[in-house]
Amino acid sequence: MTAADIIIIGAGPGGYETALLAASKGKSVILIEESHLGGTCLNEGCIPTKSLCRSAEILRELKEAETFGVRDLSFSFDFRAAMQRKDSVVAQLSSGVETMLGNKLITIVLGKASFKDASVVLVNGQEYTAENIIIATGSHAFIPDIPGMDLPGVITSKEILSLESMPDSLCIIGAGVIGLEFASIMNSFGCKVTVLEYCREILPRFDADIAKRLKQSLVRSGITIVNSAMVQSVSVSGEGLSVQYELKGKTETVQADKVLAAIGRRANVNSMNFEEIGIELSKKGIKVDANMQTNIPHIYAIGDVTGGFMLAHEAVAHGRRALAHIFGEEDRTDLGLVPAAVFTSPEAASVGLTEQQCADSGQECHCRKSFFRSNGKAVCLGQTDGFCKIVIAGKQGSDGKILGCHLFGPHSADLIQEITALISRGAYMSDLDSIIHPHPTLSEIFVN
Ligand code: NAD
Repeated sequence: MTAADIIIIGAGPGGYETALLAASKGKSVILIEESHLGGTCLNEGCIPTKSLCRSAEILRELKEAETFGVRDLSFSFDFRAAMQRKDSVVAQLSSGVETMLGNKLITIVLGKASFKDASVVLVNGQEYTAENIIIATGSHAFIPDIPGMDLPGVITSKEILSLESMPDSLCIIGAGVIGLEFASIMNSFGCKVTVLEYCREILPRFDADIAKRLKQSLVRSGITIVNSAMVQSVSVSGEGLSVQYELKGKTETVQADKVLAAIGRRANVNSMNFEEIGIELSKKGIKVDANMQTNIPHIYAIGDVTGGFMLAHEAVAHGRRALAHIFGEEDRTDLGLVPAAVFTSPEAASVGLTEQQCADSGQECHCRKSFFRSNGKAVCLGQTDGFCKIVIAGKQGSDGKILGCHLFGPHSADLIQEITALISRGAYMSDLDSIIHPHPTLSEIFVN
């Protein structure tokens, strides 16, 4: 039996960052991974998607180049080359992760882990034990029980990242984060994109105004978005697929070369004997308390497997909290304050409470809105689509605490961090207004 101070199951951002932090504190770690170091985020999620977002952005800019005075430009788009660049970005960052994990306190074990009992983890027939065990096994794409979803042309966010050629048309089921990011990318690449969303708005978890205006912007860019669409079945149609859905009591059809299922992810809790050893599960994943501790005190769970926001940075924060608890240290991170970003074109981002959440909980609030069309830098960039909404406690005109911020527009994903920092320190609107913002920058959206 091999022993260490901590066993971590899963080497995604949650798992590997937690391993690095534990090792930096002098603890020995066994880090178990059944697939690739870096997990979904690095290999088939955030990183490859953002590499494709960049290709899409360059393509859009080339298409608009004449407006900026560029003449006689001739270009074409090579999908395979964009995919190859994405692979090399992933390879570069993977090798960085491998180098970082080359720490003598970290032992990497490749293989699928399962619990033999609450203290022993089995991998490839070998037994491993530790004083504390952290489960960071992530999540997988959910495929709904709709007839035809098992057809070969129906893919998930994993398979779309390894397509060898660009489909001429794509039907995306789900206008959540994954669906809209791929809608933007593939639309920019020249693919005909139709998004079918079950809810009345896109991005149901986002502020309703932002979602509504972002939808208008995405539709203007050429994406077809159908809300209140209940997908009934997928069938083969010629060389492609046909998606039948119900809209206002009528059956409608979309034809597409490929269908992307983007209707959420589910925690990876199966075939590891979690329930057999008595770990309590909820509908969303492993049940944890505020310290990421499961009902078995020496077993912790972090990241997607706990069924939270399913964001890489959330998993990393969970890992810090779990380690702080193991080491008897204080962790001041507000785990409820998780900024979220959607890498559409334009980007959207959000942190803290929405107006609706305030109304639901009886919290009085008002909003300050500002528009990128009045922001000098955005006008210079030619990216004026979008607006920002800051949610403030108290009556209109009062200097309340900042409760939330929701925006879409250029570089929203980067901009949101300023407000995250302020909310996390309990700042009031007057605190934000007393900070000098450089001119001309997009950050002035918060103060003008
Ligand atoms: P999601 O929950 O964000 O969106 C799923 C969407 O599918 C929802 O709008 C839902 O109403 C819709 N839907 C569900 N069933 C449907 C049906 N039968 N027909 C039509 N629409 C249906 O899920 P996702 O986009 O798959 O993302 C999964 C997770 O990954 C999320 O938690 C997300 O936060 C995370 N993620 C984050 C990022 C990022 O931070 N940029 C990127 C990718 C994924």
